[in-house]
Amino acid sequence: MDTNSNFRDKLSTVSDKGERVWIYPKKPSGRFHKYRVLVSILLLIFMVGAPFVKVNGVPLIMFNIIERRFILFGQIFWSQDFFLFAIILITSIVLLILFTVIYGRIFCGWLCPQTIFMEMVFRKIEYLFEGDYKKQERLDRQNWNVEKVLRKGGKHLTFALLAVLISNLFLSYIIGVDELLKIIQEPISEHITGFISIVLFSIAFYWVFAYFREQVCTIACPYGRLQGVMLDDDSLVVAYNHKRGEPREKLRKNNTRTAGDCIDCKQCVFVCPTGIDIRNGTQLECINCTACIDECDSIMDRIGKSRGLIGFNSENNIQEKKAFTINKRVIAYSVLLVCLMAFVGFIYTLRKDIDITVLKQRGHLYEQLQNGHIRNVYEVTILNKTFDKQIITIQTADTLNYEVIMVGGEALLAPQEARKIILLIDRKAQGANKMKLEVPMEFYADSKLIEKDKINFLTVLGK
Ligand code: SF4
Ligand code: SF4
Repeated sequence: MDTNSNFRDKLSTVSDKGERVWIYPKKPSGRFHKYRVLVSILLLIFMVGAPFVKVNGVPLIMFNIIERRFILFGQIFWSQDFFLFAIILITSIVLLILFTVIYGRIFCGWLCPQTIFMEMVFRKIEYLFEGDYKKQERLDRQNWNVEKVLRKGGKHLTFALLAVLISNLFLSYIIGVDELLKIIQEPISEHITGFISIVLFSIAFYWVFAYFREQVCTIACPYGRLQGVMLDDDSLVVAYNHKRGEPREKLRKNNTRTAGDCIDCKQCVFVCPTGIDIRNGTQLECINCTACIDECDSIMDRIGKSRGLIGFNSENNIQEKKAFTINKRVIAYSVLLVCLMAFVGFIYTLRKDIDITVLKQRGHLYEQLQNGHIRNVYEVTILNKTFDKQIITIQTADTLNYEVIMVGGEALLAPQEARKIILLIDRKAQGANKMKLEVPMEFYADSKLIEKDKINFLTVLGK
């Protein structure tokens, strides 16, 4: 449905000359807004608190790209578990797509950190310093005076301070709170990279929230750009009921109304943070923030009409007054999601608590010892993924023919420690009929057998 189809030819935030159209959204209010505030407060508490919460001594969530170590709800994923981490990410993306197919872009308006910070933190501060939309517009148009300097200066100073805080928060998700505290407390010269990162992130966040704003959702965000392929006429979205609202007509006193319920007050347009007119139909720019629902409901209350001229609805519901149905695409996504989740569960059961990799030492084939034994040298990487200390010992099941020596003795690994050790295997027996033999190995953690494997051993024929 589009009553004014040329709206699809251009972005609401770009003028005909290609210049930025600054959006001054009206201060939102209403029941959906109250719920959004509540949801945002809970999410902000979670986002700010998560890096400080520790489970078994590790942060609740951490994405340490530098060390390729990711922590999700206290579970550490090392580079060895990367495939599992990737599957969890893919599952989350499919979940988001499925959610979008059914409920539209509600994630953007209610759960996305960008929207929460923009609409619930920075925008609120803007209202505090510059007032509601009309005052903001007036302030921007007026000449510089003491009032404008104070209002604009106060706002941008608060924005800059918040950007620094968000930058620190963002970094704490990458390197952890402990490392971040070191950067803050110790001399800058000892943490040049960390310090530069904080400065660059602060500038980026300030620019995004002070200037780029809704364009993150309307231009930059790939999820937003994918809406066109994910939504269909059965998706629940924030929609204008054109069957009920059209033809729109201004409300006039002492006029017997024959037109639709829309009184063309444009309050739904004024309140929109992405500057669109939802009456034109579903648009990529709509982040489903529901501000226009609240605004239109309050107008309907005032003119004595029932609420819901703008509401959560699907195009088919509006057109045919049909109940919301689960279509084939929803079923297909659901099946895929269940399969992926089952696969993640299965893969997770295969995840080892202690990861041991044995590789032949580079450039070393074998060595003939004075006592006639043949020696092979290996490099063993041990990764203790548990939260307990582990004593690792390596032995062979064939003690008659081989002797295993762990250089430095048994390995005591601290929780979450990765260690490389050198392993020597001596072949005592004579008369090898192959140059490449297999040695049966046993790996123990705290005297408990955790793995059996065979490793290749190079020798000379007859030895
Ligand atoms: S707020 Fe409601 S009545 Fe006013 S223009 Fe928008 S849809 Fe029409
Ligand atoms: S059209 Fe309504 S729901 Fe969509 S972004 Fe604008 S105010 Fe929010």
